[in-house]
Amino acid sequence: MTEQNLQVLLTARPVGRPSPDDFTFVRTAIPSAGEGQVLLGIRYLSLDPYMRGRMSAAKSYAASVEIGQVMEGGTVAEVIESRHPEYKPGDIVLSYSGWQSYALSDGTGLRKLAPGQAPVTTALGVLGMPGFTAYAGLLLLGQPKPGETVVVAAASGPVGATVGQIARIKGARAVGIAGGPEKCALVRDEFGFDATLDHRSPSFAEDLRAACPDGIDVYFENVGGKVWDAVFPLLNTFARIPVCGLVAQYNSTGPFEGPDRLPVLMRDVLTKSLTIRGFIQREFSEHRPAFYREMAQWLAEGRVKYKEDIVQGLESAPEAFIGMLEGRNFGKLIVQVA
Ligand code: NDP
Repeated sequence: MTEQNLQVLLTARPVGRPSPDDFTFVRTAIPSAGEGQVLLGIRYLSLDPYMRGRMSAAKSYAASVEIGQVMEGGTVAEVIESRHPEYKPGDIVLSYSGWQSYALSDGTGLRKLAPGQAPVTTALGVLGMPGFTAYAGLLLLGQPKPGETVVVAAASGPVGATVGQIARIKGARAVGIAGGPEKCALVRDEFGFDATLDHRSPSFAEDLRAACPDGIDVYFENVGGKVWDAVFPLLNTFARIPVCGLVAQYNSTGPFEGPDRLPVLMRDVLTKSLTIRGFIQREFSEHRPAFYREMAQWLAEGRVKYKEDIVQGLESAPEAFIGMLEGRNFGKLIVQVA
């Protein structure tokens, strides 16, 4: 059988938890590069929590994926055929080609990778968008100072792991929250966090209080939900809260459980002079060159470490994505496409 382009289409908008039935696999002819184009063979696809938002029709900071379209996503690809002056067959590039095995590009947004310098998969994780999110959100908004306490959840994932390790490089104390003993052990023993906590433990809120005897100066918000409830009473005066993600509620259909927290939140924003600042990483694009430079150095020096969770084949993408929103990934989730 001749090789074809395997594509994963979004064919229904998930309500609550996505289902494999929301996606359809199709095989189409592999396209040819036109004048000024390259044909890319996708090697790796990044699966990221933001994709849940793209599956929804709700208005957000980026357009939804239309029903019947290929799911979006960051990819590492090999140039197979080139009619573009800047690329030749064999070049490895970072692209945004989505959940498919081949794609055309006119070069817009492509970035050549140097496979000799770092494993190419790191361009989707620690040396890519998630790593940059951690770097920009923590340093520009969190602004940790030596001796301060920085707390982050999803601490074994690419954003959280990087936040804690940069916090330690800056002289702060890093407290990581993760789901389960295996993830907590990685965060403590491999990533060097000062303390780790399992958010699934019945004593989680007390454990967090014990792990933060001087309160919390920076809470890098990745998850929301019960973690936020435990963090909130421990925030110090002048605490900074970069709001990066709320993965605990991405599958929620609302209304949210519990009492109205807004009056208490606003009281503390006022009386503790809290800074709560949401952000989308691309607003800080001008800091990317500094990020690539510093992060490459930290990796080379062994001061920042990372873990990847690589699943095989595009056929695995829907289940792997669904699992990630429930913590079934262990490290940066990547699909090896070819
Ligand atoms: P991860 O690889 O860490 O995957 C998400 C993790 O969230 C899961 O593995 C799980 O880890 C944790 N989680 C899920 N549900 C809950 C819950 N109810 N309570 C606590 N933890 C939960 O993801 P990333 O590192 O890629 O992303 C982390 C966050 O950063 C996400 O919210 C994402 O949307 C956000 N983000 C924001 C960007 C921006 O520009 N603002 C850019 C990139 C990412 P565990 O098992 O440890 O609980």
